[in-house]
Amino acid sequence: MKEFHGITASPGIAVGKAYIFKEENISVPKYDISPKEVENELKRFINAVENATEEIEILKTRMKDSMGDDERNLLDSHIMMINDPELKNQVDAELRAQKKNVEWILIQVIEQIVEKLKTSNDDYLKERSVDMKDVSKRILNQLLYHKGQSLSGLKEPVIVVAHNLMPSDLIGMKRNMVLAIATDAGGKTSHTAILARSLEIPAVLGLMDVSRYVKNGDELIVDGNKGSVILEPDKKTKSVYITTQKRWKKHELELLQLNKLEAETRDGKLINLEANIEIPEEVESALKHGADGIGLFRSEFLFIQPNRFPTEEEQFRAYRYVLERMKNKPVTIRTLDLGGDKSLYGFNELDEKNPILGWRAIRFCLSRPDIFKVQLRALLRASVYGNLKIMFPMISGKEEVEHSLELYDIAKKELEAEGVPYKRDIPVGIMIEIPSAALTSDVLAKEVDFFSIGTNDLIQYTIAVDRGNERITYLYEPFHPGVLKLIQLTIENGHKQGIPVGMCGEMASDPLATTILLGMGLDEFSMSPISIPEVKRIIRSVTLLEAEEVVGAIMEMDSYAGITKYIKDWMGKKFEFEEN
Ligand code: PEP
Ligand code: MG
Repeated sequence: MKEFHGITASPGIAVGKAYIFKEENISVPKYDISPKEVENELKRFINAVENATEEIEILKTRMKDSMGDDERNLLDSHIMMINDPELKNQVDAELRAQKKNVEWILIQVIEQIVEKLKTSNDDYLKERSVDMKDVSKRILNQLLYHKGQSLSGLKEPVIVVAHNLMPSDLIGMKRNMVLAIATDAGGKTSHTAILARSLEIPAVLGLMDVSRYVKNGDELIVDGNKGSVILEPDKKTKSVYITTQKRWKKHELELLQLNKLEAETRDGKLINLEANIEIPEEVESALKHGADGIGLFRSEFLFIQPNRFPTEEEQFRAYRYVLERMKNKPVTIRTLDLGGDKSLYGFNELDEKNPILGWRAIRFCLSRPDIFKVQLRALLRASVYGNLKIMFPMISGKEEVEHSLELYDIAKKELEAEGVPYKRDIPVGIMIEIPSAALTSDVLAKEVDFFSIGTNDLIQYTIAVDRGNERITYLYEPFHPGVLKLIQLTIENGHKQGIPVGMCGEMASDPLATTILLGMGLDEFSMSPISIPEVKRIIRSVTLLEAEEVVGAIMEMDSYAGITKYIKDWMGKKFEFEEN
């Protein structure tokens, strides 16, 4: 048994046999042609373009009943790219200049175009470089009479393993034959990931080298919720996953029933159940799972590109998209939380000895107002398109709130002077994820409009346990009395000052914690969209009074082991709760 970890690109769990999808290295010949042959080579190119277009048209017809708008639009855009007169002009000019065969010329021209797209400042154009390669492969296959490996002929359900997948590979595939996808390459914002989500196929990308280890027919588990892939699982692991998979499918069914219902306790307290998202496209999943809003948009994922930060315009477009898609539901966008465990940015300045305690999140932003202000301006500009809330991460005390608000004021004044509209009443809140902030939450509550408790970090800093270190995970305990006291104190202090208190750390999605958090008076729970139905089910099954009694009992206890046992027993009696 071997486990791989990658990026959770599309949720869901699959158990099945591997199918290795190899990206072929088509060998392209290179030879000289005479001036007389130029016209003939150009004709070959035009024919190949026609045939490639027809191939896509056939695909569109074959898939017409099962294809959504995303896929149709993608195929249409590929037809446009193949038939772009500029592509033909470039091939024509290079043929005349270089006098080489057209396959070779095409590769050169495509490389130039891809390079141009890749270095563009526009994210949309950057992503088109993948499509461009995809499109060129189709033309090349036609020129070489090469029938590429395709996922359209799959005869049995499989887990597709590849170094990389092109968007068109996914569109052409028999989707009921693809249980899941696992690739070495790819990120959350790649087209492949977006399509996997929209096709609802569990997918883990960015696994680095999974395709080197897996052979055709090997048994695999793909956990798109956790971002892991297990090769040749042992019996026990497989049976745990089969149970988890069943539970997941049950969730999906519940989802359909619970979607339209409110998250309301049996005695009538309404709770806001919101979604955490990392990229704008995830709003679709939030809406599908009935989220009342976005409780945390981790904006730093827009910043994942080597050595460059997104421009104000790029950020503005992403924020506006989310706000518009959520209509008037609240959207809490957290300002940049760079650094710490999020070290994948290729940003050398953040190479620190002790990054978890280092120059990260709001500390970084306050010392780089040039970068911070760009984000604040983008947020303010986007605010007129929906119901925006702005949240600052990693606040440790009052000075940082004041300093952040000063820069926020400057950004507002700049826009004012430029005559750019923005909403005047945007709620501004902070994350409570450092013990000093929780302990001074009475003071901080006077400065801001809401709190959101970030338990992922709060647990890490309270218990001094690195959240990413697998050797000490046994210490990472949400039910540690020290953590629970800080959460309770934060909620009480927020309420005393009349501001709502939410939670966007993973604890908010833990079904074992739901009743405790309800009983403490938490107003908003924010979590990955797929977790919403289960938490909603629990909220709808308990009364506030019951939950308060549970809190009364556990806050008398002195160990996380005791508290965990108590809540498991309580839940077991109430819900016939299945343990993992
Ligand atoms: C948290 O710390 O709980 C949180 C939600 O933020 P992140 O996981 O992005 O640090
Ligand atoms: Mg955090």
